[in-house]
Amino acid sequence: RVVVVGSLNVDSTSYVEAFPAPGQTILSHGFRVALGGKGSNQAVAAHVVGASVELVARIGTDAAGDFALATLERFGLSTGAVGREADAPTGVAQITVADSGENTIIVTGGANLALTPAAAEADSGRIASAAVVLTQGELPVATIQRVAELAADAGVRFVLNLAPPAPVDAATLRFADPLVVNEHEARAVGLGTDAAGASLDAWRELAASAVARTARSIVVTLGSAGAVAASADGSWTAAAPRVDAVDTTGAGDGFTGALAAFLAEGRPLDEALRFAVAAGALAVQSRGTVDSYAPRHAVLSSAGL
Ligand code: ADP
Repeated sequence: RVVVVGSLNVDSTSYVEAFPAPGQTILSHGFRVALGGKGSNQAVAAHVVGASVELVARIGTDAAGDFALATLERFGLSTGAVGREADAPTGVAQITVADSGENTIIVTGGANLALTPAAAEADSGRIASAAVVLTQGELPVATIQRVAELAADAGVRFVLNLAPPAPVDAATLRFADPLVVNEHEARAVGLGTDAAGASLDAWRELAASAVARTARSIVVTLGSAGAVAASADGSWTAAAPRVDAVDTTGAGDGFTGALAAFLAEGRPLDEALRFAVAAGALAVQSRGTVDSYAPRHAVLSSAGL
């Protein structure tokens, strides 16, 4: 089982010709509501590729919360660990996309902020029974650190997607197995500062040289190039297939969810890396976030596993 302790947001996106000025009211030419938040995205991604998943998250008692639960249920995810807070709104991202391609985003953490260290402790039984515990940089730092400690106490593998970069302590980073970061986040944790435009192989070497002092293992995602991984057992590259990318939103979450799912099956990191790269490449080929994640058989065959 994969236990995801993470953020859950509902994204509301308006598509406009140009951004409104202060005080101005304009009409949009499109609107979409979809599940977002790295925790819920990665939980869906792991579930879609076949993992048994428990999502520990907090939502409000509002309509956005109802929508989030309905979406998780539509995918067949268990919602038993998604708690509802009476006095906080469900986390939302209000996104405006202009025809220029630029966007503005307002995130309200809302009920996600109730996912405190104490709340994680209340779910320590779930954490202790997991094969993999997965969390992300969107949670409060103290909660990430407490989740790492609970996983360590129970001898459970801890996967940390440090997105966005959060100032977690060195002990938490060192316990991550793997620490999953994209190129920008890698720089934020002191990896590859002068590696702009570096090759997969150069990133593999950077990860390999950082791994012992930084984390138990490291995975760096590199967009259309693919991803690299390093652990005490070795270091690997996985090139992404050349695909027609129509929407890269949520690709990183699809990657991380698939990676955690494969690791929870006891697969080695190099195979999980190939599996996750294939999942990410499939996700960019269709629109949406959670709706763009491909099922297990498609990912396996694309990865040649
Ligand atoms: P993030 O979205 O978190 O910044 P990346 O851009 O590194 O993450 O993408 C994560 C993964 O998604 C990559 O490792 C790759 O597997 C896949 N991916 C992303 N963009 C593309 C693309 N244009 N073509 C193929 N695969 C892609």
